[in-house]
Amino acid sequence: MPVEEANINIMTHAFLYGTAVFEGIRGYSTASDPGRICIFRAEEHFTRLKRSAQVLKMRLPAEMAEMLDLTRQLVARSGYRCDVYLRPLIYKSAVRIGVQLDDQQEFAMFVLPWGRKYQQGAPGVSVGISSWRRLEDNAIPSRAKINGSYVNIALSTDEVSANGLDEPLLLCENGHLAEGAGMNVFLVRHGELITPGENSNILEGITRDSLRLLAEKELGLRVIGRDVDRSELYAADEMFLCGTGAEILPVASVDRRPIGTGQPGAITCQLMQLYGRVVRGEVDAYRHWLLPVVSA
Ligand code: PMP
Repeated sequence: MPVEEANINIMTHAFLYGTAVFEGIRGYSTASDPGRICIFRAEEHFTRLKRSAQVLKMRLPAEMAEMLDLTRQLVARSGYRCDVYLRPLIYKSAVRIGVQLDDQQEFAMFVLPWGRKYQQGAPGVSVGISSWRRLEDNAIPSRAKINGSYVNIALSTDEVSANGLDEPLLLCENGHLAEGAGMNVFLVRHGELITPGENSNILEGITRDSLRLLAEKELGLRVIGRDVDRSELYAADEMFLCGTGAEILPVASVDRRPIGTGQPGAITCQLMQLYGRVVRGEVDAYRHWLLPVVSA
């Protein structure tokens, strides 16, 4: 149905309390055949959706094969012949006051055209460390992609943009780096890639996972997941943010201190180039990450 007609009651639990989980999935068209859209790592996204749902005592509405088929059908029937973004969500659908979890759920998914946030050759973004801390695992777990937790990201984004910077970085309560606003973070130091580990209140990003693998297997780099100190950010040779929506976003400065030369670094550029080819099906070894669909 048209998105404008897909409405919910204002007393819906998920609207009142933020009790929903979601995914952001990208589909890439190719210049030679714009009607053929490759959905990137769809199964991994639905697996993460399932794990997020489990935290809020919800479940995927169907088996994996059917979820993938629904996704394929939605893209095919959308008629889009360009890059797209898919947003599946599972939400608490009870219409009532009362915050307890054991209740009804619904599933929805929509698709939108979606261009690239960063064009190769553009300068990197300015980032600033937010005074808002990343949600702790025992408050609202970042490992689960829970709608209500995005207030944390909205607050930090608003703060740094009021200070004239592009993107926030959020620290954990213990002072180590967690992640950016809906993006994981990588630093390059001494020729190695470093990213906050899975116990640093991060969402375990699918782009992060893809880049780790590509960096190790294709570029022969060492990739380390560990605690990252604030001062390491200022000392980094290169830095980038990554996520489904933004892909790879080079960082030019942190708290107004330039990173490297202030231009996207060599490793960042190599990864951007490689990732750009992988998601469009130009690298045979990674075609299994793509779910091809022919749009009507
Ligand atoms: N962290 C958060 C909080 C996010 O919302 C996202 C976007 N899904 C990411 C990291 C990046 O994850 P992915 O690469 O799977 O999009």
